[in-house]
Amino acid sequence: IELERLGIHESVEAVFPPAELADDLAALPAEISVVDDDGIPSCDAIVTLEHREAFLEVDWVHSIQAGVDRFPFDEFETNDVILTNSTGIHDRTVGETVAGYLLMFARRLHDHVANQQERRWERPDWDAAFTLSDSTACVVGTGTLGRGVAETLGGLGLGVRGVRRSDEPVPGFDEIYTTDRLLEAIADAEFVIVTVPLTDATRHLFDAAAFDAMRDDAYFVNVARGSVVDEPALIDALEADTLAGAALDVFETEPLPEDSPLWGLDEVIISPHCAAYTRDYVRDVGDLVLENVDRLADGGEFHNRVV
Ligand code: NAD
Repeated sequence: IELERLGIHESVEAVFPPAELADDLAALPAEISVVDDDGIPSCDAIVTLEHREAFLEVDWVHSIQAGVDRFPFDEFETNDVILTNSTGIHDRTVGETVAGYLLMFARRLHDHVANQQERRWERPDWDAAFTLSDSTACVVGTGTLGRGVAETLGGLGLGVRGVRRSDEPVPGFDEIYTTDRLLEAIADAEFVIVTVPLTDATRHLFDAAAFDAMRDDAYFVNVARGSVVDEPALIDALEADTLAGAALDVFETEPLPEDSPLWGLDEVIISPHCAAYTRDYVRDVGDLVLENVDRLADGGEFHNRVV
């Protein structure tokens, strides 16, 4: 790859201002510019949030997200386009967001916020609040997100169990179950947190059988991808009270449609796919791009290469 022109696709605007990343990369020995769709073909490399057909004509595409399920891997391969992603940077951000959801449920903080809107002084029922240090969380997926969640929750005193494909131990997890024992792993946990990528193997991993296997007083958290969950099955379980509640950052359709029943359920916390947001996001992505430009210059292997 001859890197003469690196484009920052305007779609990154949803996460940070493209010009901030351009500033961060200004020292590179290449022309750096913010591009719209028409500007893509003149670039050798693109940093982007969304996918565009025209990317098949550039040499290297870097996704500012860890999840790359929306990129057509086969077509990238056929057209010799390298795809890299931004895994490795979301451990603390997503870990702290998940800790926040759990604290809201256990300490009833979301009720106070709702009551405050109505200027209502109302204490929780005597048996509604509990402490996280008496609870167990089952984290499904032990990559960057899973480890960040495990470390943050471990710091709050929860017992943390992990589910992964191999049974090798992982730092931060008290015990590991393999994916084929998923239903057993989630059966007695107060919190189940999903942190796997969306792949053919994980699509609808959480279906009616999984929600059935969970405790009736358990909370479900999805910070992975919407389609890892069979959303109608989740809504059924919440409406039937066979699940205590859910915190959801990702959905099968985003933005979450206004008529989704999820908006109206009491024990559901909704965030608009921003669990990993931080003012440092742009610098973290910039560091990944700079590292790969260095590796390119040295003729080394790309870091975080997917295709
Ligand atoms: P990662 O590659 O570091 O970790 C993913 C882990 O999942 C790996 O350990 C992998 O082995 C494991 N895995 C894959 N298939 C599995 C299966 N069938 N069963 C069990 N484990 C399996 O990626 P990451 O940075 O931790 O991100 C994980 C996913 O979370 C991303 O793909 C993305 O979809 C999502 N994500 C969401 C946000 C957000 O804002 N909500 C932010 C970052 C990532």
